[in-house]
Amino acid sequence: MPKYIFCTGGVVSSVGKGVAAASIGRVLKSRGVSVTMQKLDPYINVDPGTMSPYQHGEVFVTEDGAETDLDLGHYERFIDENLNKASNTTTGQIYAEVIAKERRGDYLGGTIQVIPHITNEIKKRIGLAAKATSPDVIIVEVGGTIGDIESLPFLEAIRQMRKDVGRDNVVYMHVTWLPYIGATNELKTKPTQHSVHELRGIGINPDMIMCRSDSAINDSIREKIALFTDVETRAVIPLVTTPVLYEVPLTLEEAGVGDFLIDRLHLNASAAPDLSDWRTMVGEMRKHKEPLPIAIVGKYIELKDAYISVRESLYHAGVAHDVDVQIDWILSEDLEKGRGLERLSKVAGIVVPGGFGYRGIEGKIAAAKYARENKVPYLGLCLGMQVMCIDKMRSIVGSDEPNSTEFDHTTEYPIIDLLPEQRDVSDMGGTMRLGSYPCALVPGTHAAKAYNSAIVQERHRHRFEFNNAYRDLMTRNGVVMSGLSPDGRLVEIAELADHPFMVGSQFHPEFKSRPNRPHPLFKAFVEAAAAQLDK
Ligand code: GLN
Repeated sequence: MPKYIFCTGGVVSSVGKGVAAASIGRVLKSRGVSVTMQKLDPYINVDPGTMSPYQHGEVFVTEDGAETDLDLGHYERFIDENLNKASNTTTGQIYAEVIAKERRGDYLGGTIQVIPHITNEIKKRIGLAAKATSPDVIIVEVGGTIGDIESLPFLEAIRQMRKDVGRDNVVYMHVTWLPYIGATNELKTKPTQHSVHELRGIGINPDMIMCRSDSAINDSIREKIALFTDVETRAVIPLVTTPVLYEVPLTLEEAGVGDFLIDRLHLNASAAPDLSDWRTMVGEMRKHKEPLPIAIVGKYIELKDAYISVRESLYHAGVAHDVDVQIDWILSEDLEKGRGLERLSKVAGIVVPGGFGYRGIEGKIAAAKYARENKVPYLGLCLGMQVMCIDKMRSIVGSDEPNSTEFDHTTEYPIIDLLPEQRDVSDMGGTMRLGSYPCALVPGTHAAKAYNSAIVQERHRHRFEFNNAYRDLMTRNGVVMSGLSPDGRLVEIAELADHPFMVGSQFHPEFKSRPNRPHPLFKAFVEAAAAQLDK
């Protein structure tokens, strides 16, 4: 039976609860404890797939094709384990299941209520996530902040679990924020005290409190929090903002989190952590490096979380090449209106990430055109691959007519078109081509050199694809189809022959990059960009 660590957030949102939870996973793994993670999201959408990135940030895709919360990206990057469909549960999924059961007659005669029907379904799903990989420990993060109405059923479910599985098998950790008052030069603990009171009102007594703060937290503050919240002083853990995100597991280990959890959960674990590789990696990250300016051309750039895995992947690849990737976030609509082109002349590489819908699309095509004509290294991710093909086709036929049928239904040259299996799809949620598919690489290409492998598995999230009617024409004009589905039907990677590095993938490599294992395509792209800068 696994042990459970339940993670809740207090005071304000965005305190780094996801990173804190993921870091705990890394700390436990370093002691030889196997871990998995799960996020419980209180919103009523079935998954974030149908939400605007402005509402929710990036949609993270798992190997098995679940569209999930961006925190799962943190989890995978920190614990270096693939997660799955069971790893993200929402209120929408819970209610959909309970209502379907009610319609089937599974509860005939009963009145369906939040307690026990909804809470039982939540507990069942926590169990499923734990069962998927049979770990020693499952870390379950509850989305939202204590005090939200929506998260109450989740909190009630995790409260009940202490009784279900036994007190020694459950740890409740609460992540809060300590505001700093400049005038009196103090960190304030009162909001944390209130948040813990609220949590206790629900029946959850935290075992551990993580205090996020922008300034150092001294022992007297920790003791004060311990006193007011009834938590052991050794379990009041400072979580001071650090410039290197991946340092958090080291900070937590130094603060005694590993020892505390092993002790409290009676875990069969090695006494000393093995964080040496992680420490070396963080050491590399902290080193001063030459800046490498890279443009990300997107439509949601006001909210950096919309491209969080892309940003992290560039960072991982930069560390591997000893450069400090500095991102210039360029709004595609600006390029569309003829603004910001000069910014492209100041970067060493251009990334066009994934996206949906017409807004800003001409700006992304303009970015691809700029990269092609000026031989600037380019990495296209999903939509970024599609715009690269649109631009190339436009240059071949000498007109702006070529397009994707996503943006122009009646284009004379539908260079990107709907996947055949998408033609009869009418529901929007969870119906794209999702998750991991194999891709065979063509020897001698940028892609094959980057991966150094004949076949790779990559994660997808799209409805449109390269239109094979144009494959010959494109190939004759210097486009290399360097990655194909094993049956040869689907173009998964396209690249330009006469270019230092212009590569687009129909899949999303950013979901598989890990800090200790940068993704090969990002690595090759950053290498090409760094070489460009040297010139
Ligand atoms: N909108 C495009 C498609 O559905 C690209 C999707 C994406 O970038 N994830 O094919």
